[in-house]
Amino acid sequence: MYGGIEAGGTKFICAVSNEGVIVERVSIPTTTPEKTLKQVFDFFDQYELEALGIGSFGPIGIDKNADNYGYVLATPKPGWGNYNFLGSIQERYGIPMAWTTDVNAAAYGELLKGAAQGKKSCIYLTVGTGIGAGVVLEGDIFSGLAHPEMGHIWVKRHPEDTYEGTCPYHKDCLEGLAAGPSIEARTGIKGQELPQDHPIWDIQAYYIAQALINYTLTLAPEKIILGGGVMNQDHLLHKIRQQFVELMGGYMETPQVDEYIVRWGLPNESGIIGSLLLAEKEHGKQ
Ligand code: ADP
Ligand code: ZN
Repeated sequence: MYGGIEAGGTKFICAVSNEGVIVERVSIPTTTPEKTLKQVFDFFDQYELEALGIGSFGPIGIDKNADNYGYVLATPKPGWGNYNFLGSIQERYGIPMAWTTDVNAAAYGELLKGAAQGKKSCIYLTVGTGIGAGVVLEGDIFSGLAHPEMGHIWVKRHPEDTYEGTCPYHKDCLEGLAAGPSIEARTGIKGQELPQDHPIWDIQAYYIAQALINYTLTLAPEKIILGGGVMNQDHLLHKIRQQFVELMGGYMETPQVDEYIVRWGLPNESGIIGSLLLAEKEHGKQ
């Protein structure tokens, strides 16, 4: 049996799988590390796990040789900043553990069981409260110095957009201009309540399409998968594809855009399924 944790800023999804099938899952509110982990332990204590996979909100320390490996780094969530998350779980269970970001776990889940099945590479981009992306290349999660932070890239400003941006670090980076809170800050209306013909959606599509062009030009993934609350707008997906083709200007050849830029294949489950698959992979390495 394998365990998986999709650790989000508002909730933790914990699940146990047996022979590739999820046998049990729970959702636990993210409060303080102590309170949340108590419930996590109560759940996993019921099982004999062979390995555990964790996809965590970030930023997180992923360099095995660094002192902060396994830590949640700078986060405004009370109690979680500079917290040894992986260490606390390892202390309890002492089994092999995979440790990565929530979006990397989601990209891995989508590659093996979702929209990128049969491929060796994909990018998973979530557009929600923030913007983040996970990258799988050659079947493995990609990392270098740290995990990439592809939500904070620079984009060219839309000529009709004067909004300053919500990112506390950069103001008008991609996340600052196109994450869910920027929609509400510009219009006073939450994205889910905004009419489809509102001009904001063209601005949104312009920014997200630029990001996808940058990722395509830099990494050339075989598939780009879009998830997150804001992407529940089907018309936005359509606009993003149109802008992608237009702004790319035919420079780089990609698969047909409807097949290249797609919605998630595992709605709301990419992260937890990916975490379980990473546990299995980690177990296989032992
Ligand atoms: P989180 O990022 O916190 O995990 P979500 O992915 O649901 O959660 O993102 C929440 C953000 O997405 C909020 O800014 C919300 O207004 C926006 N949002 C949620 N649903 C929709 C929708 N159907 N259309 C547009 N925006 C949405
Ligand atoms: Zn930023």
